[in-house]
Amino acid sequence: MMMMTKQTPPLHAGNDPSPLQQKNYRTGLVYDERMTLHKCSFDLNHVEHPDRVSKMYDYLQEEGLVSRCVRIIAGPATEEVVLLVHSPEYIAQVQAWQKEAEVDPNQNPCKLEEGSPTYLSPHVYNCAMLAVGCAIKLVEAVLQGEVDNGLAIIRPPGHHAEMDEAVGFCFFNNTSIAARYAQTELNVKRILILDWDIHHGNGTQHAFYSDPSVLYLSLHRYDQGKYFPYMDESNFSAVGEGKGEGFNVNVAWNKFNPDLVLVSCGFDAAKKDPLGRCNVTPGCYAYMTHHLKSLAQGKLVLILEGGYNVQEMSECMAACSRVLLGDAPPTVASGIPTRISETSIANTIQAHRKYWKCLQDHRPSSLPDD
Ligand SMILES: [Zn+2]
Repeated sequence: MMMMTKQTPPLHAGNDPSPLQQKNYRTGLVYDERMTLHKCSFDLNHVEHPDRVSKMYDYLQEEGLVSRCVRIIAGPATEEVVLLVHSPEYIAQVQAWQKEAEVDPNQNPCKLEEGSPTYLSPHVYNCAMLAVGCAIKLVEAVLQGEVDNGLAIIRPPGHHAEMDEAVGFCFFNNTSIAARYAQTELNVKRILILDWDIHHGNGTQHAFYSDPSVLYLSLHRYDQGKYFPYMDESNFSAVGEGKGEGFNVNVAWNKFNPDLVLVSCGFDAAKKDPLGRCNVTPGCYAYMTHHLKSLAQGKLVLILEGGYNVQEMSECMAACSRVLLGDAPPTVASGIPTRISETSIANTIQAHRKYWKCLQDHRPSSLPDD
């Protein structure tokens, strides 16, 4: 995640000549209270807590944003849909975990951990299926023109979930499934997934690593592999393989001309987040949302991933919602990137220079690491 310091006078994002901000948009909102049933029975303060979505929804309601959105009603996904990304054995495993958790919720289904463990509950399968169902229904509503764009307030999150493994509070990879669903059922060819969660979406990277039709861009903390999910392949050098070489970007840009943009919308890079410890403001998320609206004729869907400070993440989602609805983006301060940020970006540019013409004339302002 890029960190900005040395604040210079504010630059009004509204000066951007994009015609998009002049219009009111129909923004779909999907939320289902039943997703709050999955909770940790042995740690009531666990960071992946149902309040993350219920309080976010309440906040959007208080801010008058829910009534401005078009409510999308969804049910649980079918197994057939989840099979687009996950193996049948793994789906059966999550179903079995739900049953087993009625007797013993203290099993640990996940090998990789960061402080708080990934937990099971007697609702884990139902909630995970519902989260997928909400994501695909919203994407369908956008692609069928029922709404222009949308936001999915869902949990458990998805981007760490592998084809056959639960990782980092994630069971089914909501965003990856939504992308595959859009391609197989709704005739979409090219999809951009921008993942601005503080953590690298290892599951999403793996789902599309050799596929040039899905450009996966992740902005995340890496810390030389010492930050969750602790994988070397979260680094800039992971560029995709086979036909997908050059379509896995671990940091940023366009020229891909997608037909649909999905955001793996984690807010754990927001200030005061107990896991991310970065300082991204609601205005910054809104600003990124504003720029994404210029792609794919505005077909943009934000799908909630992480974020563990309930108040902060609610404000961030509210700021993004306003931009989706057509309000002008807020004023954001521009800054000078730190040396570390410049190096991270230069490394990514270097790794992708041979795949992207637009980068071939780019002169990095900092030398890449060895
Ligand atoms: Zn995260």
